[in-house]
Amino acid sequence: MTVSEQAGEFDLESAESDDRIAGLGRYVTLADGVTETFDVTEKYTQEVVGTLPACQETDVREAFERAREAQESWAERPVSEREEIVLDFHDLVLDHDDELLDVVQVETGKSRRHAHEGVMDVAINARHYGHRAEDYLARERREAGVPGAQKTWEHHHPVGVVGMITPWNYPLSLTASDAIPALLAGNAVVIKPAPDTPYSALKAKALLEEAGLPADLFQIVPGYGPEIGDPLIEECDYFGFTGSSDTGSLVAAKAGEHLTKCSLELGGKNPAIVCEDADIDKAVEGLVRGCFTNAGQICISIERLYVHESVRDEFVEKFVAATEALELGATYDYSVDVGCLIHEEHLEKVEEHVEDARTRGATVECGGTARPDLGPTFYEPTVLTDVPEESLPCCEETFGPVVGIYEFSDEEEAIERANDSEYGLNGSVWTEDYDRGVDIAFQVECGTVNVNEGYAAAFAAVDAPMGGMKKSGIGRRHGDEGIMKYTESQNVTLQKAGTMSAPPGVPYGIYATGVNYALRLIEKIPGLR
Ligand code: NAD
Repeated sequence: MTVSEQAGEFDLESAESDDRIAGLGRYVTLADGVTETFDVTEKYTQEVVGTLPACQETDVREAFERAREAQESWAERPVSEREEIVLDFHDLVLDHDDELLDVVQVETGKSRRHAHEGVMDVAINARHYGHRAEDYLARERREAGVPGAQKTWEHHHPVGVVGMITPWNYPLSLTASDAIPALLAGNAVVIKPAPDTPYSALKAKALLEEAGLPADLFQIVPGYGPEIGDPLIEECDYFGFTGSSDTGSLVAAKAGEHLTKCSLELGGKNPAIVCEDADIDKAVEGLVRGCFTNAGQICISIERLYVHESVRDEFVEKFVAATEALELGATYDYSVDVGCLIHEEHLEKVEEHVEDARTRGATVECGGTARPDLGPTFYEPTVLTDVPEESLPCCEETFGPVVGIYEFSDEEEAIERANDSEYGLNGSVWTEDYDRGVDIAFQVECGTVNVNEGYAAAFAAVDAPMGGMKKSGIGRRHGDEGIMKYTESQNVTLQKAGTMSAPPGVPYGIYATGVNYALRLIEKIPGLR
């Protein structure tokens, strides 16, 4: 049967064979019915569990039309009302924890404990912005150009409709957590999730609507990026992308064509530095998590580990033992540590990286093999030493359960090597001297740096911005930047007295001399400058 024949018979109501995702297909935005479909697999088995319409350009345009209409009345509602909905969503996310974890696990293949990180992240962002949006967005008085004669306000308008394209690795949080501040700022949101993981975004939509979000305000258009990325970017008033740096560069060019403002959250090749005074047991625990959470498929995962020569042997021995102790498996409970990779193509990439390093002389301290006995895309957490510089896992993002350990002899060298990358997303520093750790952290060229933690502490600190330096991104999520980017700021100034030119009857030369004198005075007087 051809795709279009299959699509002609497509029944949205019964397209999901798995109870955990059943019924979510009805949250897809469609213009005129289904013309093409795609299958979603359970990643532990790679068996098809659901079939969804692959949205086309007309569906995307329809989604924007509906979203635009819904946004008008949404923007008129007080921020406090929007906050209430988001805080109800916060509670619903925690109430429906188990259902959400099932959906995320089915379509990503990650372990339940790693799926739970996504639920926590959504709750943290909903709580933070749900309580703080009004403050962030409040109209503020600003200093006027001519104090006394003028009054200036800074005001923030919603941009309109925010378009987002999201990846598969954290499909719940990278859709819901990034959408929350956009919605609170008075916008509508249209999201194209990754084809591997559309159901998490659909589940988020279901819960947002249950919390009271107007249905048309948040649209999901599953499908393929190369097919519907362009119309989404054309239609939106602000574009948020999370994915690889290669795709990021393509979509940014498209956004540039339309002068659409955008933020890009991209890849990383994240370094950790273990100093000679680090608590080695603590560092091993934190860095095993930092390297192998979600089977290494996290943008902020540690892939380069620089260890001081004086503690290198002890660290490698303990790190390898802890890595070997990780339990892999396909279960829908908290009993195992690590799940599988997203699909076979990604497994091949991970295998290629390890083989490249191995054939060029790297030592595989542990792992280095696929585990088809556990499922089609399981791969053992892998620790490499003696990794040659020209090998793939040395500088390219593996985005899998593979880490290289390198040795350094002084702090300066460690910082230099950590910064020797085209990426700059996340870094990690380990030392028992906290002041020293923080001082090193400020010198690491990454958007987030964790001291005595791999990645989670800085990511959870949502009051501060998070994002990438260098090729790891443009713009930031979290903190004030994470919400203000979804607004158009406006300066409104009232001229209360006088004029911005020479008063009537005063020759311009005399006026100019007077203005210069006043400017000198203002610069000298602390209360005025
Ligand atoms: P990807 O770039 O292949 O895909 C991301 C999204 O872009 C998907 O929805 C995909 O369908 C879409 N897409 C693909 N080609 C497109 C095109 N030509 N036009 C428009 N859209 C297109 O990335 P991925 O494999 O899904 O995710 C892994 C990458 O994402 C890694 O590099 C990882 O580091 C990065 N990532 C970054 C962050 C962050 O916050 N910085 C978070 C998660 C993942």
